[in-house]
Amino acid sequence: MIEAQDVQRVVDKYDLSKIAVCTLGSHSSLNIFKGAKDEGIRTVCICKEKDAIMYQKYPVADELIIVNDFTELLSENLQERLRRLNAILIPHGSFTAYLSTEQLTCSLKVPMMGNRKLLHWEANRKSQEEWLRQAGLLLPATFKSPDDIDRLVIAKLQGAKGGRGYFLANSAKEFNKKADEMIKRGLITRQDVETVHLQEYVLGVNVYPSYFSSTIDNGDVELLSMDRRYETAVDSIGKIPASEQLEININPTYTVVGNFPLVLRESLLPEVMRMGEAVHKKAVELAPPGIIGPFCLETVITDDLKIYTFEISARIVAGTNIGIGTSPYAYLRYGENMYMGRRIALEIKNAVKQKQLQNIIA
Ligand code: AMP
Ligand code: AMP
Repeated sequence: MIEAQDVQRVVDKYDLSKIAVCTLGSHSSLNIFKGAKDEGIRTVCICKEKDAIMYQKYPVADELIIVNDFTELLSENLQERLRRLNAILIPHGSFTAYLSTEQLTCSLKVPMMGNRKLLHWEANRKSQEEWLRQAGLLLPATFKSPDDIDRLVIAKLQGAKGGRGYFLANSAKEFNKKADEMIKRGLITRQDVETVHLQEYVLGVNVYPSYFSSTIDNGDVELLSMDRRYETAVDSIGKIPASEQLEININPTYTVVGNFPLVLRESLLPEVMRMGEAVHKKAVELAPPGIIGPFCLETVITDDLKIYTFEISARIVAGTNIGIGTSPYAYLRYGENMYMGRRIALEIKNAVKQKQLQNIIA
């Protein structure tokens, strides 16, 4: 485990007038880099050859480091190069998708914005639920064994990313039937089924509010944007008549292909704001100093306007890409041209100015 002192020693050697914002070239990198450029900070992109076109078309990366695989970030050579560039890493969904929690907490000796200790609370579904429940949020019920299924559930695979391989079931019998089918189709393994997480399927609409927690501004939690996802195949099933749906026996899958901006019914906003604050406050107790920077709650809102939270991401989510430039919620607080990538860069700039950089990195 890399400790705060280890990171501090690295930062002590940094030239603070030449800080660079660095991240993996995917997910929300354009958002992060554009934000840094808007705040006058240099940017370094670790990217695969096939994706370099993005940074030719959108010139937001000052330096491109081409790798064959994102795990090269763990190599001492690359890390030394990043330290020489005075790089601050901004973690996003591809970090947790392509690197393990252990690798992120033990092998990455480059300062990273955020609280590494929270990664453990987030990576494990049980501890994540504990965190959210203790914060007073409403959660979908969970079931220990398929035999306990007494309502519609969503079966989630351990470590599954973006809903890949999720499926729905109404009973133990249906669960077993579907699991067998998916194994046969090579979509999941027997081991996946044994460690599956069974969660009540909440019927409602998905809302993903994105917040920013500023630890250098007394832990204030800002609501900066809101989105919903465009998921295939689940968002396409309604396009065909129910009779055909039954005939071809479709299993909805949730592979994300994009996001839509969303503005919430205004009377729901106070609760969404309280939820963000409560989650951060609980995080301060569980893993001080709590959430540093961006986070997102994944929620479903039902017809009686109850807000169920089924997951938290304690980092920037790709849904904030809808706000590049501006979004209504960022506008309400900051006026034009504020968005998550820029808010991150602003925090880094303020931290450097106030000699508090050590308080936003881990
Ligand atoms: P990628 O680098 O595109 O493979 O994404 C890394 C992780 O982030 C995967 O688990 C994706 O499912 C997730 N992800 C990527 N883009 C989005 C998006 N627009 N909305 C939600 N999740 C996303
Ligand atoms: P996740 O991988 O947790 O982001 O979930 C992928 C998708 O599954 C979400 O975007 C939702 O559409 C759906 N989903 C996840 N959990 C639930 C739930 N408990 N109730 C209803 N829909 C859910």
